[in-house]
Amino acid sequence: MEDRDGWIWLDGQWLPWREARVHALTHTLHYGLGCFEGLRAYATPRGAAIFRLDDHVERLFESAHILGLDMPFDRDALRQACRDAIRRNALAGGYIRPLVFLGAEKVGVDPLGAAVHVMVAAWAWGAYLGDNGLERGIRVKVASFARHHVNVQMCRAKAVSTYTNSILACREARQEGYDEALLLDTDGFVAEGPGENVFLVKRGVIYEPEITSALDGITRRTLHTLAREAGYEIVARRITRDELYIADEVFFTGTAAEITPVVEVDRRRVGSGQPGAITRELQRRFFACVRGEDERHADWLTLA
Ligand code: PMP
Repeated sequence: MEDRDGWIWLDGQWLPWREARVHALTHTLHYGLGCFEGLRAYATPRGAAIFRLDDHVERLFESAHILGLDMPFDRDALRQACRDAIRRNALAGGYIRPLVFLGAEKVGVDPLGAAVHVMVAAWAWGAYLGDNGLERGIRVKVASFARHHVNVQMCRAKAVSTYTNSILACREARQEGYDEALLLDTDGFVAEGPGENVFLVKRGVIYEPEITSALDGITRRTLHTLAREAGYEIVARRITRDELYIADEVFFTGTAAEITPVVEVDRRRVGSGQPGAITRELQRRFFACVRGEDERHADWLTLA
């Protein structure tokens, strides 16, 4: 990733991609206090457009607030940096990664004295779980690692440190031949994927776990709107892992994962073993929005 052409925004300056470096004593590298966002821009008839830019920037500021990180830039500066990251890197679409981290001004657990730094990078990125995953669905394994307890990690924050757990779960699933993991919460109920929210469909109703330990995903919020427009009821409640086994459909949502059908959980076929009709319909509606083909949701798109 580091050896390529392009531009990265670091603390208000545009640096050539290869020069956007930090010191080995960077506080966040040692102790993990930081937060980030993941946004996607899509090619639309009017040019590259960022999906739900304001919502992502808002969540970044909320994450920083939860973690007690004083943002050295305002929301406008961050929005502009995201747009410029697409334009400067001449991307027709792609993934945008803002990161807020503490610098190398000091070491030690107490962050006082370490400055807050902000970075924004963007690059072309295809389907996170593969085109095949989007099309045919993925195989998922319930992780042996639980999602964080709500009073251990601050789960409303998209915090750097929460991803150690996601990585452990994801690596475990991939090493065992699955496409992705699914984490239960510390009470044993379904929480989310390592980087995705999860939904199931049973008898025409869409269910999702209550957002306690899971991240409040922006794609998840989008799904709510699109599902209601399509006439579906969505119920948030506790979900057990075996409910996934007997669901008619299961799917993941996320900025990177978009809407990815899950066709197998713990070696049990979900529904017919093919992406379900409701999942397909929601995928269709989602991609119409992000590609600027649904005028009702034009306000979700910001031209880069
Ligand atoms: N849960 C986790 C742990 C994630 O990392 C993500 C990706 N940001 C999501 C859910 C989905 O969130 P969003 O739809 O905002 O990308």
